Parts: sequence; structure tokens; C-alpha cells
Amino acid sequence: MFEQQKVHIEKVDEITVSPLSNKPQEFVRLLPLHEETKHRSIQRRIKPISLDEDKPEGHTRFVCISDTHARHRDLIYNVPDGDVLLHCGDFTNLGKLEEVIDFNDWLATLPHKHKIVIAGNHDLSFDPRLMEDIRKTKREGGYRRFQFLDQISEKYTDDWQSVLSNCTYIQDTELKVNGIRIYGTAWNPWFGGWAFNMKRGQPLLDKWNKIPGDGIDILMTHSPPAGQLDVVQPRSERVGCVELMNTVQLRVQPKYHVFGHIHESYGISTDGCHTFINCTTVNKELAPSNKAVYIDFPTPEGAVEGITDIIQH
Ligand code: 5GP
Ligand code: MN
Ligand code: MN
Repeated sequence: MFEQQKVHIEKVDEITVSPLSNKPQEFVRLLPLHEETKHRSIQRRIKPISLDEDKPEGHTRFVCISDTHARHRDLIYNVPDGDVLLHCGDFTNLGKLEEVIDFNDWLATLPHKHKIVIAGNHDLSFDPRLMEDIRKTKREGGYRRFQFLDQISEKYTDDWQSVLSNCTYIQDTELKVNGIRIYGTAWNPWFGGWAFNMKRGQPLLDKWNKIPGDGIDILMTHSPPAGQLDVVQPRSERVGCVELMNTVQLRVQPKYHVFGHIHESYGISTDGCHTFINCTTVNKELAPSNKAVYIDFPTPEGAVEGITDIIQH
């Protein structure tokens, strides 16, 4: 099990935009200088639960993976069994229909009773804004990058769930599974104009503000918060979202924050209060070699089994 969570962080109702929104590296470096937030700078790696370990009684086992990048059939290990599979996005490379269908077919081969999936910046066709722009450019006779996606039927843009029939696809959505509260969202800091890219600062904060502040247990995002498992190479630079970190540590305070996106920073860490999991499957060479990460979460007494209480935000 993960070590005891030791630090108490005072909760706030509202997050304001940081002057360091565009400088996650600076934001993290300056954290220890603030007396009242000194503890927030803790970034300690913790050991994963061994994949051989039995699930403790009365718990729901989540099996967390991310960033399979259409390499799901090339994984160098079998995804272990558990009650709920969580996938944090980049399940395709370009959001092509055949990639989505193949991913869905692969999901059917996995043993988990429930499977919850969010999109990432590579799952291009899942972003309605991007698809709208592609179709508009085509109507006007122009050309834009990713134009080939215009072959995807318009009916899927609002209903990818019909293609992803072997999982529950969520976007800005909250639900309960075995009574445990999950929130999932694909938004990520602008980088190259891919799916669900959003400017740092207020635009991203507006998205994080949709996350309920009254007891989400597991937060799923595609991209990391500034300061935890968000280092890119070769310059060891932090690129996580400052507003997401403030939202997680100060307002939402989920027990677990699960994400992927930064392939160089696979692992588990803690700030002394929350557990952060970067469960990217591919490593920085795009080899699908990282193992799934378990969360064994105590199942609330009297909880309804399965997925309930789906709320679209
Ligand atoms: P992906 O293209 O799969 O979303 O991300 C792959 C890699 O791109 C990451 O492992 C990281 O090296 C790089 N990357 C993604 N987002 C950012 C970002 O916001 N800033 C920087 N510098 N690199 C990024
Ligand atoms: Mn990725
Ligand atoms: Mn990504």
C-alpha cells in the first residue's frame, strides 16, 4: 500500500490565476519560499503496489494505464486483472477511425468488469472544436493539418461512445464506480495545436473549475499538474499545468490524481497529501514497456456495484 498521507492542506473554494501560469518550472521552484505553502513543494517518489499482490478485502482495484498510442497489441506485459481499468488518453496516434475501432476491439479482450477511458491530445477526432474546424476548412475549399480526419462521419463527433462500446468514454464527466467518485477530462496545455489543447492560465482554469470540490476520489486528466511527474527531457524541464496543481492541492483534493502525457515521467509520487500517478505505457522512445499501476481503493459500505451517477459537466 501507499504510505500514510501525512500533510494537511487547507482547502479553498476558489482558485485564481497564478502570475506564473506560463512558467511551471518557476512556479515549482518558488513554492518552498512561501511559508504557508512550504509543504506543497514535497515531490517524493513512492513505490507501486506489486502487480502480484492480492487485492485487500473490501477494496476496489483500479488498473491504471495511459498513452498506448495504438501500440496496445505490442505491450510487453499483459494488463493485469482488476475491477476497473482506467485509461488516461492518447489511445490512438491520430484519432483515425480504424485506430479507435482496433482499440475498442482490444478492450474487449481485457478482463476488467468496468473500463473508463478519457481522450488525450493525440485522439484528434474526439475534440469537437478540431473536427468542426476541419469540416469548415473543407467546405470552404481550403486545407488544414489533419484534413484526412474529415472522412470520419459527423455522427461520431457527439457520440464516440457508440464506437467505444467496450468502455465508458468520459469527457468533463463525473461518475461513481462501486460508489467511488471519479472525474475525467482530456484538456491539456497548448502544445502544437492538437486535441483538447487549451491556453495556460484562465482558459485551462475554466476547465478545471468544472471539477466538483466536494469529494472526488480519483481525478483522471490526460496531462500532469506542475510539479509532479511532469518533467520532459532532454533539459529536465517541468511542463505541467500550474492551475491544475493549484486546483488539485487547494480546491479539489482528490485522493489520487492519475494522468499520462509526459512519457519521460512514468511513476508514482506524493506531496504528502495526494498521490499522483503518471501511468504512461510508452516510454520516451515510444516503446510500450511501462507497467500498469494499481490503486486499491476502499469500497464504501453499502455502495452500489458498477457505474452509476454519471453527470456531464
Ligand atoms: P504526446 O505527443 O504523446 O502528447 O507527448 C509526447 C511527448 O511530447 C512528451 O513525452 C513530451 O516529451 C513532449 N511534450 C508534450 N507536451 C509538452 C509540453 O507541453 N511541453 C514540452 N516541452 N514538451 C511536451
Ligand atoms: Mn502520449
Ligand atoms: Mn499526450
